[in-house]
Amino acid sequence: ARFQMLRDLRDAMEAKELTLYFQPQFELSTGKIIGAEALLRWFKKDNSKTGGQFISPAEFVPVAEQSGLIVPIGEWVLRYSCEMAAMWQKLGRDLRIAVNVSGAQFYQSDLVNYVSKVLKETGLNPRNLELEVTESVFMDDIQHTIETLQQLHQLGVELAIDDFGTGYSSLSYLRQFPIDRLKIDQSFIRNALINKDDAAIARTIVRLGHSLNLKVIAEGVETKEHEAFLMEENCDEVQGFRYSRPIPVEDFNRFIETYKGDLSIFDK
Ligand code: C2E
Ligand code: MG
Ligand code: MG
Repeated sequence: ARFQMLRDLRDAMEAKELTLYFQPQFELSTGKIIGAEALLRWFKKDNSKTGGQFISPAEFVPVAEQSGLIVPIGEWVLRYSCEMAAMWQKLGRDLRIAVNVSGAQFYQSDLVNYVSKVLKETGLNPRNLELEVTESVFMDDIQHTIETLQQLHQLGVELAIDDFGTGYSSLSYLRQFPIDRLKIDQSFIRNALINKDDAAIARTIVRLGHSLNLKVIAEGVETKEHEAFLMEENCDEVQGFRYSRPIPVEDFNRFIETYKGDLSIFDK
């Protein structure tokens, strides 16, 4: 099944079946939209009535990672994301695009040069690009991580640790990494209101982040109650189904045109 999926995925690149969806991120204290996370989507065409079906990145990204195919896919993701953010920049919108970078990209490819090249070619302001890397990737090779993060930091791009709290970060390394943001894993947010241990972990991540002068963003914010909890805990930024699912770029563009900066519109 893996082999078949890998073959299909290679074809998918050729057939342009891969696309990116965008999920908005907001500043909690002001309601202002600050940017979006770019998320891969694979619409696998077939002969059915619907013309095909969506395959989840949770399914195909691991296959792409193991085969190394994530490197060319990731390059495409980065370029397309920067092109979109550069377009927003031209429209006078100061929005940051957050791009997921997998372990294979972080270790195998010439990531720093590629990022630098794409920034030049698209004209995107580097601070409007954020790279999200999970903490387990960082921990695989500390020396490489520190060097790579420093080089990326020098380019001026922002750096975030994705799914924070689920890997095995050594907290002592955290202060050596030139990162900007911790992204609280959605599992803690999901259960924060029903499980006091999850609430305690989410709260602690916010405090840890702030103590280290980092911004903290919560993902998986689905309800007004989640939002109220995060507001109470002084979390900086939010992303989740309460506000919007990941959406195609046309929908995202329409959203930023109409959104007035008031999170209460999502109450109903
Ligand atoms: P992630 O980077 O942690 O992305 C967040 C995931 O949570 C996304 O799933 C998003 O749709 C989902 N999500 C957002 N808000 C909510 C919410 O309120 N409730 C719930 N239940 N889920 C929410 P998605 O798009 O299926 O992506 C899954 C994972 O696949 C991502 O996790 C990321 O690790 C990977 N991925 C996606 N796009 C890329 C990419 O371009 N490159 C790489 N390397 N990995 C990617
Ligand atoms: Mg992410
Ligand atoms: Mg995540």
